Amino acid sequence: PLCLAQDFDFFYFVQQWPGAYCNSKQHRCCYPKTGRPSADFGIHGLWPNYKDGGYPSNCNSNSAFDRTQISEALSSMQKDWPSLSCPSSDGLRFWSHEWEKHGTCSESELDQKEYFEAAIKLKEKANLLNLLNDAGIEANDEFYSLESIREAIRKGVGFTPGIQCNKDSGGHSQLYQVYLCVDTSGSEFIKCPVLPRGKCSSSIQFPKF
Ligand code: 5GP
Ligand code: 5GP
Ligand code: 5GP
Repeated sequence: PLCLAQDFDFFYFVQQWPGAYCNSKQHRCCYPKTGRPSADFGIHGLWPNYKDGGYPSNCNSNSAFDRTQISEALSSMQKDWPSLSCPSSDGLRFWSHEWEKHGTCSESELDQKEYFEAAIKLKEKANLLNLLNDAGIEANDEFYSLESIREAIRKGVGFTPGIQCNKDSGGHSQLYQVYLCVDTSGSEFIKCPVLPRGKCSSSIQFPKF
């Protein structure tokens, strides 16, 4: 049989906290043309990965992003996968980047429509903000132990997440991204074969947005 050049072992499903993207000193943030996103986690991406921690990228330059593939999912995409980079955009640039860099490496499993729909479904399945709020962890600029955040998500999703921090303008370590692992069909959460290095302090801020 034809051997697909790029295979992968699992996905990272990565969500970002907009408050931490927007108050970091690394970059400015701009709201999408469709307006200020709601105060919720947003999708960053669904990234094919290898068990050894490496990953394939930009696997098929013949598979350009095709906006017609997401027309049914557009309103969910705008809500759940807003782009916060500058200048303001309608999201297409971010989604196109994610498809071309990451999505093209899982085409053996998911075509473009399936890829974006899988990410939206995963976001609905793992409502991080609800899970954290239920554990008394709120986006109120307070500090929480990294362990309590990890544990709240583990209880809700069933598996320990990877947590990535960045720094606010005052240099405080804050909750930026949450990594969950997903099987190669893009539908079920699994135990992470390898967790990303997180760069978090043991106590981290959960900034308002
Ligand atoms: P950063 O260096 O900011 O952590 O990541 C930059 C970009 O590299 C991310 O937006 C993503 O495209 C890619 N990337 C970073 N870490 C990982 C990873 O562990 N797995 C995969 N598949 N991509 C990653
Ligand atoms: P880090 O050293 O922070 O994990 O990765 C730094 C950058 O190197 C990432 O943003 C990513 O773009 C790139 N990188 C790291 N590991 C890999 C890999 O296995 N494959 C690819 N394509 N890029 C990588
Ligand atoms: P990655 O390569 O790490 O998957 O994605 C990062 C790229 O997407 C960068 O070029 C960044 O400017 C762009 N981007 C657009 N909107 C966003 C956003 O809301 N969050 C992040 N982290 N990157 C975004």
